Amino acid sequence: MPLEVKPRFVVLYGSQKGQAESIAEGIAEEAEEHGLVADLCCLNQNNKYNLEKERAPVVFVVSTTGDGEPPDNALQFVKRIKKRTLSPDHYKHLLYALLALGDTNYANFCNCGKTIERRLRELGARQFYPTGYADDGVGLELVIDPWLKGLWNSIKDALTKMASDRTVQLKEDSAKEIPESSLPDVQLNLLSIADKQICEPDSKYSSSLAISDVRPPPASTVSTSAPNTQACSEGFPQVSLAASLTSSLPPLSESSLNVPALPPSYLDVSLQEADTAEQAAERLSKESRYEVPISKAVQLSKGDSVKTALLLELDISAFPSMTYHPGDSFDVFCPNVAEEVDHLLHRLGLQDQKNHHVQISVKDNTKKKGAQVPPHIPENVSLLFLLTWCLEIRSVPKKAFLRALVEHTSDSAQRRRLQELCSKQGAADYNLYVRDASLGVSELLAAFPSCSPPLSLLIELLPKLQPRPYSAASSHLRHPEKLRFVFNVVEFPACSGRPAGRRGLCTGWLFDLVSPGLVFPEKAELALPKIHVSLRPNCSFRPPSDPSLPFVMIGPGTGVAPFIGFLQQREEERKENPEAKFGETWLFFGCRYRDKDYLFREDLENFVSSGTLNHLKVCFSREDRKDEEEPPSAAQPRYVQHNLLLCCRQVTDILLRQNGYIYVCGDAKNMAKDVNETLMEMIKIELQVDQLEAMKTLAGLREQKRYLQDIWA
Ligand code: FAD
Repeated sequence: MPLEVKPRFVVLYGSQKGQAESIAEGIAEEAEEHGLVADLCCLNQNNKYNLEKERAPVVFVVSTTGDGEPPDNALQFVKRIKKRTLSPDHYKHLLYALLALGDTNYANFCNCGKTIERRLRELGARQFYPTGYADDGVGLELVIDPWLKGLWNSIKDALTKMASDRTVQLKEDSAKEIPESSLPDVQLNLLSIADKQICEPDSKYSSSLAISDVRPPPASTVSTSAPNTQACSEGFPQVSLAASLTSSLPPLSESSLNVPALPPSYLDVSLQEADTAEQAAERLSKESRYEVPISKAVQLSKGDSVKTALLLELDISAFPSMTYHPGDSFDVFCPNVAEEVDHLLHRLGLQDQKNHHVQISVKDNTKKKGAQVPPHIPENVSLLFLLTWCLEIRSVPKKAFLRALVEHTSDSAQRRRLQELCSKQGAADYNLYVRDASLGVSELLAAFPSCSPPLSLLIELLPKLQPRPYSAASSHLRHPEKLRFVFNVVEFPACSGRPAGRRGLCTGWLFDLVSPGLVFPEKAELALPKIHVSLRPNCSFRPPSDPSLPFVMIGPGTGVAPFIGFLQQREEERKENPEAKFGETWLFFGCRYRDKDYLFREDLENFVSSGTLNHLKVCFSREDRKDEEEPPSAAQPRYVQHNLLLCCRQVTDILLRQNGYIYVCGDAKNMAKDVNETLMEMIKIELQVDQLEAMKTLAGLREQKRYLQDIWA
């Protein structure tokens, strides 16, 4: 009796914040339902997979970070496949499918996925399923859900094709006396695919919880009818006139639901009394982070400015290896807000055990593929430390998280609503009440009082607390042993599900940290606390390596930060080498009001006086304009792009004829897009070409790394 060997395929992921990783894990987990087996690996685990010899279909799930860069754990892979020495048939044997995650708020949408795909094709690999480009700007699931749905049949088709190709190959080779033992694998694979195709549903959803499904679903995972939620709820009002986070209206409240499969639980978590006091700082510094004192904190915005802009200076003198260049960015590690952690501890009923050590191990019989203790949780940390420094407790709960919460919710109406929110039919409600409102786990638990998830569920499903990147706003030539950065304190308004507004996690924390010692520029420096930082991998957002080339900088608001570093550096270089030829410099800056948020005004004017900055173009979006009736335009500049258009001839000359550079920094949502549109218009005007040609010219500038962006949402 031959052993049944399930057909296998490979899932490889590159993930910065864990999204691509969890999608890849989901694919690997679901494989079994389809009669397949998946080998799951991170792209940086190159000792665990071998694409050069891989004969099974490969599914890539990759995100993009920064200005179109690969996630850290995919960097080496991308570098490897980009090698020009690889031959065009290097991956001739490979069949692949690719899901790229990105955000259209950024210019290089899904760039990492596109780069990998381009190289795979150039190296001979063949696609077995069309690439999905999921956009976080509008909701990843709009692309991901249908893409996943269609994936399974395509994998099976690809396996069948590969197997029959191999059979043909083997028959052709039989004259060369290939041992017979090579054959059975292939035949078994074909057999098991055929078996499964008869009895397996093809969709991610259909195997789970369609309420109208003729097959009875598992009792533990489905509500068998749409309950009269308003009538039987313990926690909700009897009558609902409008939909909200906690209640829905017809047709959703009455419809059958397709909810995702329950994510398998994979961790055993216990709490043990600890006798040693924990040193949070020690634990953090173990992970190659620098603990540096803040040597200066300056409020740059003035009066009743809408946004509070701060400059912080770090004293990095104790770490000579911490060298940086203008344009580099670095990570700031911040904790969760103490009150929010406390609230969560209470809500989980674990307040009395906050100093206990958390023991985590992988369940023996878990169905989760590649299950491991999350690497971002150090061993033997206290529960308080775990919730403060390791988990992003404010992160918006994913649908898988909502699905898992259903199992720990006693009230039937609340269960139904959670099912709705994670279902296909409830996607619009999820986007409106959870995603767009940016609700965190605490807010969700407050809205669903009968839900009591175990701690293990949070550890399994909450992502790593991410450090926040900031751009250096200084030059080490001007300020040796110092590193400066600038930020606005982010403010979130109150909304449905969150009665009070709140500050951004990192910017709110930094503000609270320095506000007692906050000084205005003319005041003396004060001793301030220490924070943990680490330098980010080197970027290409640097001034031109040839100083004789001209460059244009566009940085409204805090986007001016790296350009202060650029200009300080240039000024120092000019002092060191007065005979050298330096290219022209332009800066386009914009803010609301001249007297409130014109950041670095004095510094910029000094750069102009010294000849370091040749052209400074500033506009104020909220100041009186000559003719209020007229819309903002080049004639009445309000935003940086209007000033840019006014200088169309000079700027395009720099870019198109003088081999110069253009840098854009700051808001990704509006400004960077508007500037991009304006540049396109300018190229059309100057070169007398159509939209397509202008787009190609801009793309060429990007390719040559002469149009560079450092933008953030
Ligand atoms: P968080 O708590 O992380 O909240 C901010 C997030 O919430 C945003 O990402 C946005 O998606 C979301 N959000 C925003 N408004 C709302 C709203 N009203 N409702 C719901 N959700 C909302 N920032 C600077 O100020 N200066 C810099 O020099 C700088 N450099 C950067 C360089 C790089 C390479 C990158 C990637 C980012 C940079 N940033 C910079 C952004 C910075 O890293 C942080 O994202 C920013 O400071 C906010 O962090 P936070 O923790 O305070 O906010």
